[in-house]
Amino acid sequence: MKSKADYQRYMQSEAWVAFKTRYREAGWPWRCIACGDGRHIHLHHVTYVRLGDEDLRDVVPLCATCHDRLHATCTGAGKGGVPAFRSQLVTVFGLSEKESFVRMNRWRQKGKIGREATKKLKAEKRRQAKEKRKRDIAAMLEARARNGYAADGSRLPGFENN
Ligand SMILES: [Zn+2]
Ligand SMILES: [Zn+2]
Repeated sequence: MKSKADYQRYMQSEAWVAFKTRYREAGWPWRCIACGDGRHIHLHHVTYVRLGDEDLRDVVPLCATCHDRLHATCTGAGKGGVPAFRSQLVTVFGLSEKESFVRMNRWRQKGKIGREATKKLKAEKRRQAKEKRKRDIAAMLEARARNGYAADGSRLPGFENN
C-alpha cells in the first residue's frame, strides 16, 4: 500500500470488513481502550507493517472520538507498535503509566482468550465433521449390504444370483 488513496480504498474494501469480522469473532476487545466507550468503535493500527494482511494484534479498538484525537495530536500514531501505542495512552489520553500497562495487558489477555476459544471451536467443528463422515460411511455400507454388496463390492452370500 503505497499511497493514502490506497489506504482509503483498503478501508472501504471487503478485505477490511472481513478482517474486522475476524477480529470480533476471535473475541478481541470491542470497547475503546482509551475511554471505555463501546460505541462507534474503530480499529486503530498500532503498526502498518502488515497492512492489508493484518494480524489481529496489529489493531486496537478506539472510539471515533479518541481515534480522531489520537491522529490529530500524535504524528507517530499508527507506528511503533504496541509499546508506542501504550505510551500514547499516557501522552495523548492522560492515563497513568500503570493504567496504560493494565489496559494493554487486558487487551492482550482478552485477545489470547479469544484465540483459545476460536481454537476450541475449530477443533469441535473438525470433530463433528469427522463424526458425520463416519456416520455417512456407515450408512453407505448399510445401504450396500441391503442391496447385497459387501464393503469391498463383492456379492454377499444369498445375493449371488441377484
Ligand atoms: Zn474513546
Ligand atoms: Zn488510527
